[in-house]
Amino acid sequence: MTLEQAEALDAADPLASYRAQFMCPAGVIYLDGNSLGQLPLATVQAGAEATTQAWGERLIRGWNEGWIDAPQRVGAMIAPLIGAAPDEVISADSTSVNLYKLIVAALRLDPKRNVVVSEAGNFPTDLHIAEGAVAAVAGAELRIVERGALAEALGDDTALLMLTHVHYKTAERFDMAAWTKAAHDAGALVCWDLSHSAGAVAVGLNAAGADLAVGCGYKYLNGGPGAPAFLYVAKRWQERLHNPLSGWMGHAAPFEFADGYEAAPGMRRWLTGTPCVLSLVALESGLKLWADIDIRQVEAKSAALWDIFHAAGTAAGLECVTPSHPQQRGSHISFRHPNAYEIVQALIARGVIGDFRDPDIMRFGLTPLMLRHADIWRAGEMLREIVASGSFRAPEFAVRYAVT
Ligand SMILES: *Cc1c(COP(=O)(O)O)cnc(C)c1O
Repeated sequence: MTLEQAEALDAADPLASYRAQFMCPAGVIYLDGNSLGQLPLATVQAGAEATTQAWGERLIRGWNEGWIDAPQRVGAMIAPLIGAAPDEVISADSTSVNLYKLIVAALRLDPKRNVVVSEAGNFPTDLHIAEGAVAAVAGAELRIVERGALAEALGDDTALLMLTHVHYKTAERFDMAAWTKAAHDAGALVCWDLSHSAGAVAVGLNAAGADLAVGCGYKYLNGGPGAPAFLYVAKRWQERLHNPLSGWMGHAAPFEFADGYEAAPGMRRWLTGTPCVLSLVALESGLKLWADIDIRQVEAKSAALWDIFHAAGTAAGLECVTPSHPQQRGSHISFRHPNAYEIVQALIARGVIGDFRDPDIMRFGLTPLMLRHADIWRAGEMLREIVASGSFRAPEFAVRYAVT
């Protein structure tokens, strides 16, 4: 691929117009939209209005002017991106907290089933939260096994199979329908973590027959740092599962101020405390961009960007740890190198922002709404130069930061 060929792909790109709707800092090729999505320009205005007009002028009246329903409204906007019905998704809390709620709920469903099965090397918070959740339910147990041993780890004691759909390091994607069926064949429920899937690849929760899911608002959904997460509960489970963090916002009638808890019908019971309105406003603004987007075009462009960067990385002699078949991966690409940290720092010094994942992975998010093929081509050239010249060995690139 030449720069001219990459520019020709940009000229024919059906998603090209979206880039202008995001703030794209000069001199930066941002390959970290899978960690913190870029700022939609509309969010600047939405945030200003939410503070000065809604909060500043309307004050507490704002709750009846759109704030109180924001978790459901935002959930309904996420639903089409994950193959769910609008009343099966709600936006609340963080992915970690939502996982806790769903794991404990699943463990309490059937006392004969008390095991949560998950994958070794899953995103750390998923495993840490599962550890805390099983500790909170008498007799419950966490069984963490390698991917190849998952099938045999499922049995008649399994309450929940908890998997991350797209792996945060390698981008490897589970076959959602096949693993949902495997869980169901064992009589268990499945919970999918869609943090690296929502807004990245086509997701069909209901088509797969999935039970539960969670996911992140600040990655591909561009909700801003610490944006609220979401959770999904298939309609058939909504009256049978209960939120262990039974706060007043999930009560059937919060403003009756009753002493006893009574769960709200539908998804609202998964709320706990007061929604973080300003953050929901930012997430809602980001989600509005998705209204007219065909996720298949996003997947197709992601694959084209992937091919360009993959060619550059392998030409540089790097080992790619991401599956080469587009249906078997998400929307990032990762390479392994003993000096991955230093190479990522050398790229950042030249304006190419990716990230490092301990111990030896460099990870690059490919976000088709903002990135041009020519950007990826240029970033690939820089990667090649940095590795070939050994310039990443300069001492300043070895300085370790707290957030990588
Ligand atoms: C990003 C991510 C999270 C983030 O969880 P927080 O509670 O927002 O910190 C959780 N799980 C996976 C798989 C992720 O990729």
